[in-house]
Amino acid sequence: MPIDATLPYDDQNVFAKILRGEIPSKKVYEDDFALAFHDIAPQAPVHVLVIPKGPYVSWDDFSAHAPADLIAGFVRAVGKVARDLGLVESGYRLLGNVGGHGGQEVPHLHVHLFGGAPLGPMLA
Ligand code: C5P
Repeated sequence: MPIDATLPYDDQNVFAKILRGEIPSKKVYEDDFALAFHDIAPQAPVHVLVIPKGPYVSWDDFSAHAPADLIAGFVRAVGKVARDLGLVESGYRLLGNVGGHGGQEVPHLHVHLFGGAPLGPMLA
C-alpha cells in the first residue's frame, strides 16, 4: 500500500530498523551518509536500495530539509555503489518512488539501483 509522503517520519519503519541493525540486510556498502543493501524482492539481476542515514520520508522531504553534506554524501554513495558493483560500463537505472502516485511503500527515502541486464524502456 503506497504511503502518504507528507506524513512525519516514523522511526519504526523497516528501513529505520535496518539502519539501526534491528533487522538484517544483505549489505553492499555503508559510509557515514548512506547504507546500500540488496532488495528482498529483486526486479532485476542487480537490485540494490540506497538509503540516507537520516530521518527523511521521501525525496521531497530529503531535498527540502537534509543538510547539504548529507545530500552530497548520499549522492556520492549512490554513484560509488554503482561503480563498486561494476555497473558503469554496462549502464544502470536509478528510480525513486515518492508517495501515493509514485507507489512508495516504505516511508524512508530510498533510491532503487537496477542493473545487470538490459532493462527495457522502463520498470514499473
Ligand atoms: O519504492 P518502494 O517503497 O515501493 O519500494 C520498497 C522496496 O523495499 C521494495 O522493492 C521491497 O522489495 C523493498 N524491501 C526490502 N526489504 C524489506 C522491505 C522492503 O528490500 N524488509
